[in-house]
Amino acid sequence: MTEAEKTHSYKEERALTRPRVVIVGGGFGGLYAARALAGAPVSVTLIDKRNYHLFRPLLYQAATGLLSADEISGPLRSILSRQNNIDVLLGEVTGVDTQKRVVRLEQHDVPYDFLILATGVQYNYFGHDEWSRIAPGLVSLSDADRIRAKVLLAFERAEELAALELAQTTSIQKLLTFVLVGAGTVGVEMASTLAEMSRMALAHDFHHIDARSARILLYEAAARVLPSYPEVLSTKAQRHLEQLDVKVYTSTRVTSIDADGIIANGQRVPAATVLWAAGVLASPAGRWINSATDKSGRIIVNSDLSVPDHPEIFAIGDTAHVVAHSRNLLGIKSNEPMLMPGVAQPAIQEGRYVARLIRYRVAGTKPPGPFWYWDKGDLAIVGRTYAVADLRFLRFSGFPAWLIWAVVHIYFLIGFANRFFVLVQWGLAFLTKRRRVRVLPE
Ligand SMILES: Cc1cc2nc3c(=O)[nH]c(=O)nc-3n(C[C@H](O)[C@H](O)[C@H](O)COP(=O)(O)OP(=O)(O)OC[C@H]3O[C@@H](n4cnc5c(N)ncnc54)[C@H](O)[C@@H]3O)c2cc1C
Repeated sequence: MTEAEKTHSYKEERALTRPRVVIVGGGFGGLYAARALAGAPVSVTLIDKRNYHLFRPLLYQAATGLLSADEISGPLRSILSRQNNIDVLLGEVTGVDTQKRVVRLEQHDVPYDFLILATGVQYNYFGHDEWSRIAPGLVSLSDADRIRAKVLLAFERAEELAALELAQTTSIQKLLTFVLVGAGTVGVEMASTLAEMSRMALAHDFHHIDARSARILLYEAAARVLPSYPEVLSTKAQRHLEQLDVKVYTSTRVTSIDADGIIANGQRVPAATVLWAAGVLASPAGRWINSATDKSGRIIVNSDLSVPDHPEIFAIGDTAHVVAHSRNLLGIKSNEPMLMPGVAQPAIQEGRYVARLIRYRVAGTKPPGPFWYWDKGDLAIVGRTYAVADLRFLRFSGFPAWLIWAVVHIYFLIGFANRFFVLVQWGLAFLTKRRRVRVLPE
């Protein structure tokens, strides 16, 4: 028998005899579930509408030209290439038939014995989907490209008008005004990075405009920036943003967005660039399986992350509403169960947990107890060398927090090559204060 025939017959035998696990979504939840099933006596199929795993926490660096797309992403197929019980399919899932136990792709169905839904979130424009054309959110690599191009083009247009003396100061001011809607982690990261980009990286590139005069305006409907953080850290983050010359407007709702700018608190603010970081909505996975969801569309799951009435279906990560007990880094258990936040750690830990549960079920042994969350805390970056850290038992800010942020992010970046290149880029950017990826797409 040739090698190709051997592989073929092995695959056929595998598909016939082993339980089939289908994972929809190759983000943090799906990828870590797939990896944790390595060597298990199951046949895994990972389906994603994109062919890459994206390290979202560094996406804002791609949107502001510090890192390039391939440094924060990797092809799913090659990440999982050494795992011989898995097939990776590129395709968009459009539904699930829970009776027939098949996942619907556009062209065909994929059967499952166990299904893991890990399809993440999309931006929520609170009933104003038309705003998405003007104010892009940052979710995918193409969003990052679009935002980077939008920001760089605004500077280019302003320079053009100033060089040819074609415009009044107000038009140039509008071009150099950048509005961010939403001061959660993403809004704060973007605002601080845009501020530093205009004050440092672009400062000497233009002859007719002063890039340093760019106005970065950050709007938040809640009473403080980083609303999910302890108040003391929100205050520190806001103070640092203001030191970077970001204008912060809290308790201020943006009620309209159009090509001329925004309306906030009834006042028009002219701006050529508006970016959206204000809220997310879960993927439609809850509708596919006709399951109960919360108001953000997340599937409400049992304590073992299975879907009520469907012990063979699991929902994890951002698309799941998971309430669980947690332990902090000191091992101290929470008094009350908490709703899992929409960040990478719960998705990773849920992915690993479900993989373990499936292994137990397949082996016919007693499954593990309910999912619990190892809460390592939260980190948010506010500029080049400043961050705030909430480790639950300890809160601090400044360079030490930034250092922890950098180590954690490098550690979790998929693939050695990415880690190495990102380290080099950060080192260079730190020393030269310059941005590398500034070429505009045609
Ligand atoms: C800009 C940004 C910055 C962030 N920064 C941080 C941070 O610093 N720290 C942190 O912990 N968290 C951060 N997060 C949150 C973190 O990225 C998410 O919590 C995490 O990615 C959730 O993992 P997931 O597996 O649930 O979903 P995702 O990682 O979003 O993965 C979902 C996957 O499902 C695929 N998919 C969706 N629909 C379909 C479909 N119909 N068919 C096939 N495939 C589909 C998508 O292509 C995607 O690959 C950030 C998020 C964003 C947007």
